[in-house]
Amino acid sequence: MDAGVLNLDTLLLVQICVTLLTTALLVASACYADSPPEQRWWAAGNVAVSIGMVMCNVDGLPLLVNNILGYGVIAFGIALVLRGLRVYCNNTLSWTTIGIITGIALVVMAYYTLVAPSLRARLCFSGFYYAILNWMCAFAIARRGSWRVSGIAVAGFVLLGVALFLRGTHMLTHSDPADAASSLVMALSTLAVPLAQICIAFGVILMVMWRYAERLRRLSTLDALTGALNRAGLEMQGKRTGLRAQRGGRSLAVIMIDVDFFKVINDTYGHPVGDEVLRHLARLVRLELRPHDLLARFGGEEFVLVLDGVDRPSALKVAERLRARIEYEMVELDKLSVRYTASMGVVCSDQHDYDLIRLISAGDAAMYEAKRAGRNRVAAG
Ligand code: GH3
Ligand code: MG
Ligand code: MG
Repeated sequence: MDAGVLNLDTLLLVQICVTLLTTALLVASACYADSPPEQRWWAAGNVAVSIGMVMCNVDGLPLLVNNILGYGVIAFGIALVLRGLRVYCNNTLSWTTIGIITGIALVVMAYYTLVAPSLRARLCFSGFYYAILNWMCAFAIARRGSWRVSGIAVAGFVLLGVALFLRGTHMLTHSDPADAASSLVMALSTLAVPLAQICIAFGVILMVMWRYAERLRRLSTLDALTGALNRAGLEMQGKRTGLRAQRGGRSLAVIMIDVDFFKVINDTYGHPVGDEVLRHLARLVRLELRPHDLLARFGGEEFVLVLDGVDRPSALKVAERLRARIEYEMVELDKLSVRYTASMGVVCSDQHDYDLIRLISAGDAAMYEAKRAGRNRVAAG
């Protein structure tokens, strides 16, 4: 295979079409209402890169646009994409850094255009510089892990970097830019660029879909006020926890927690304070949780704690510790300090088997026993 098979003009045309199409794809998905902010940075970055490519490649434009500004706009576009990727990873890229990334491209291109004019130097530098920027993009998401979600985008950025780096190296080793441009390496790198762009576009769309799926999962399984599982979440994860404990031959304990006289707290201090009490309770309980334990908000002021590998005496100790802590702690909101107590029912698979629904109803009965016995206490079922 030689460079002739890979017609450079055709490949360039494909590259331009793919750039435009992937840009349109990203802009369309960023226009979707409520799109995450990173999508807008990716779309803006791709638009900038496309404009930059036009500025660099359209003949007849002033030297300043063709040789200097165009390269600066491309660097600015990649920096915006990098910012989007860092936002996706709960980070950011400052405008100063974006300015520096753009400035370096402008200064070097201006030097090799106005001070020491050299097409070869410009092409070498742009190849290496954009390669490094693309690898920075790959690194930004690779650091986060979760390869199933971001692996394709990482591969795309790495491939794009390699293609651009090869272009730069090739220019460095060929004295005549026109000769170098017609070589097989140039053709292969021009082929790799659109492939990498497709990888990146699919990769970032996959990342966005994962973000939406995660948002939906949270909305459908978590309680918005306390962050504890809601009933649907408890049903889903509770089954798994129960099965895991049963298979492992471990005890499964359930603690039902109900705030005492919660209606009085609402009526006396207002609903916002009541809400704060619920958040406070969830925070306290979470301190007791180990990775496989579950906390769910079962009803208004009623919570369920599912503890894997905890027998009845240990569960009673956990509940008693929690009860004492709740009684001791103070909830503060808007200069108000409120104390509250809770009643708890403790049950265990040793007595009631592993069926979570049965455990919960037995726990509820024990909790009402604690209420009847005077509240602010723990009862075992
Ligand atoms: P007991 O000691 O017998 O448990 O009495 P209680 O007042 O705690 O129980 P009751 O069932 O009479 O009242 C529960 C109250 O919880 C009634 C309801 O308005 C309130 N509630 C339910 N959900 C929320 C919520 O999300 N926020 C607030 N602030 N209040 C809520
Ligand atoms: Mg109550
Ligand atoms: Mg209740």
